[in-house]
Amino acid sequence: MKAQRIDGKQISDQIKEEAAQEASALREKGIVPCLAVVLVGNDPASAVYVNNKKKACEKVGIVSRSYELPEDTEENALLQLIEELNMDKSVHGILVQLPLPPQINEKKVILAIDAQKDVDCFHPFNVGLVQTGEKGFLPCTPAGVLELIERSGYTISGKRCVVIGRSHNVGKPIAMLLLQKNGTVTICHSKTQDLTGICKEADILVSAVGKLHTVTADMVKPGAVVIDVGINRNEDGKLCGDVDFDAVSEVAGAISPVPGGVGLMTVAMLMKNCITAAKLQNHIVS
Ligand code: NAP
Repeated sequence: MKAQRIDGKQISDQIKEEAAQEASALREKGIVPCLAVVLVGNDPASAVYVNNKKKACEKVGIVSRSYELPEDTEENALLQLIEELNMDKSVHGILVQLPLPPQINEKKVILAIDAQKDVDCFHPFNVGLVQTGEKGFLPCTPAGVLELIERSGYTISGKRCVVIGRSHNVGKPIAMLLLQKNGTVTICHSKTQDLTGICKEADILVSAVGKLHTVTADMVKPGAVVIDVGINRNEDGKLCGDVDFDAVSEVAGAISPVPGGVGLMTVAMLMKNCITAAKLQNHIVS
């Protein structure tokens, strides 16, 4: 393997440690950062994600309050719970784990969360702030991608960046954040022609597709930084990303693994947003 392995564990631990220091400073002021975690239904993957988030809260010194609702929960019942959490001054962040069962409209739920408690940064108000580059929450996975690149010592400014994937919560905000760091950004998607040719020009290549072998070695410029956001299972049921890791490692300059890369960063950035939420609601400027 020629490429530097970007260490999501080490970088995410560092970010959680910084959040822990901030949490402790808030506690000294009498503010106990608190995240309400809402899980509806029995999706096993969601249960794992929620558990990881609760464990991270414990490590950082954020209180996590758990709300586990049955699969057949009605939309109104969830909206009512969100309203109660919005009003509760001891709760700083509200996280509703997606996806939700089909009887519940996700958009309505996201809109119902107080924008100041929207630690996932999914509310259109916060999405707007990200677009205009103003201070506030940053979307967890996209911000995690940027931290991985920058804390590994790579500069974004002036670089050719290619993002594969244009979803509202992942691909698009990654591209927006890279642009704000003065990258020259191209977004690719399922209708893109000559994906290989475009990817091959990238100094920084981010794949956020959710399909095995989306990025193969022939698509990568020698020395490029490759970040893999995808979460997939291979034929043996093993967790892996979008990037053909072993082959691309022979060409790239740096590469983030799955697992051990972006996934850990998402949780760390959530912790950071919980601290931001507690500060915002207590009018503490950082
Ligand atoms: P999504 O909503 O399904 O979006 C996938 C994107 O990939 C779409 O924009 C789609 O294009 C594009 N695409 C599909 N096939 C393609 C192809 N053959 N060539 C080029 N582009 C193609 O998924 P998402 O929510 O953005 O998530 C993407 C991946 O990231 C998933 O594996 C997800 O599990 C993972 N993820 C990881 C984390 C983490 O913490 N590590 C967090 C969130 C998501 P169109 O728009 O044209 O359909």
